[in-house]
Amino acid sequence: MRMVITRFPPSPTGYLHVGGARTALFNWFYARHTKGRFVLRIEDTDTARSTQASADSIFEALEWLGIDWDEGPYFQSQRFHIYAEYVQKLLDTGHAYYCTCSPEKLDAMRQNAMATGGKPKYDGTCREKILPKSNDAVVRFRAPLTGTTVIQDVVKGDIVFQNTEQDDFIIQRSDGTPTYNFVVVVDDITMGINTVIRGDDHVNNTPRQIMLYEALGAELPVFGHLPMVLGKDKTRLSKRHGAMSVTAYRDMGFLPEAMINYLIRLGWSYGDQEFFTREELIEKFSLEHIGKSAGVFDIDKLLSLNADHIKITPPRLLTPHLLPFLKAKGYSAEEGIYLDQVIQTLNARSKTLEELAESSRFYYADAVSYEPSAVDKFFKMEALNPLNLLIQKMEATPNFTVAVLEAIFLSVMEATGLKLGKIAHPVRVALTGKTASPGIFEIMEILGKEQVLARLKQAVRHIVDMK
Ligand code: GLU
Repeated sequence: MRMVITRFPPSPTGYLHVGGARTALFNWFYARHTKGRFVLRIEDTDTARSTQASADSIFEALEWLGIDWDEGPYFQSQRFHIYAEYVQKLLDTGHAYYCTCSPEKLDAMRQNAMATGGKPKYDGTCREKILPKSNDAVVRFRAPLTGTTVIQDVVKGDIVFQNTEQDDFIIQRSDGTPTYNFVVVVDDITMGINTVIRGDDHVNNTPRQIMLYEALGAELPVFGHLPMVLGKDKTRLSKRHGAMSVTAYRDMGFLPEAMINYLIRLGWSYGDQEFFTREELIEKFSLEHIGKSAGVFDIDKLLSLNADHIKITPPRLLTPHLLPFLKAKGYSAEEGIYLDQVIQTLNARSKTLEELAESSRFYYADAVSYEPSAVDKFFKMEALNPLNLLIQKMEATPNFTVAVLEAIFLSVMEATGLKLGKIAHPVRVALTGKTASPGIFEIMEILGKEQVLARLKQAVRHIVDMK
């Protein structure tokens, strides 16, 4: 069996948006699943709109998603000599011809067609003239006049186009620059691409591309056109629906693993399984289960997958993604056992890395700031006695483990006759400033004796001062 070679060819006219990322992922996972190759190509022939900054931001987003490429990035702007060679090939074999029809003439043709309700088409004036090359000549493709062109689409099934609907489209402008459909085909042929998966906004380009393959005597790739990604209101996903750029999701605190899991499920399924790791997707992804209907982008589903991925990612793998959020809050956090433990107490309760960072504030703050409602509820005079007893006993213990701390709490419960809650609630506020937090014994073990004592004493002072 031939090796699968897929590609992702973004136009560098802006950031990588979620729809583009989804297309890239389908091609990447298919290449990885089949142990094939994945080629990255930058389609920058539109020099007015293409920028290096956009190309760089696309690379950055792909790298963040963990999409690596086996070849490229190729830049179309550096391949004009190859396109010129292929134009010549088509001219030499009679599949293309020079045309000198003036813009006015073409305009009149268009007006005419529209007036009679027809599709604006080139009327073939120069088709049989065999004109020589000249400064004002474009090169047109000699398209078949009869018959049909069929896309055998792995997603949509056969799509049949009448060749009478096509015209002799331009492949090279009079300034010598090649046109879009032509360069795509030349690139895909010369790069050995045999699987083309792209958005179905390109379906109408495909018959022209198939005609070019046939004229060049090249084998057709497998085509698959993915339905568009829609917003919740079932219109095409756009800025109105929220962030579009992949890196915006990174900056909001999504994990790349959650993003790829979500985007691949937006158009592909494997039974009703929702959660996938990257390895599992590489093992399971195939072209068979791509859906025919459009996927609806749902931020709540993405959030819930993100929570699941945060939960199962080992702390040391989560750390590089989390650190920028901790640093942005001014915490002096760094990779290590302390942060591993912080993560372990919070990873089951955070939907985003931003949320995780925010809820870890008390682990890094020098002085705890109390939520007023927590103070009202639990910083009562009756809390002073148990807090002071805890401080005394903790000061006396050399070991600061969960087991030792539980024993200390028990002895304070016995000494005061108070239930655990009456003691634990003020302690929680003292340690975290909040009424809800991970288990206080784990927190105390992680914070360590010195911090815990300082916080309990701060709480005692606060309660005394409130009198
Ligand atoms: N450059 C095109 C785009 O960004 C991709 C064309 C293709 O996949 O053939 O939509």
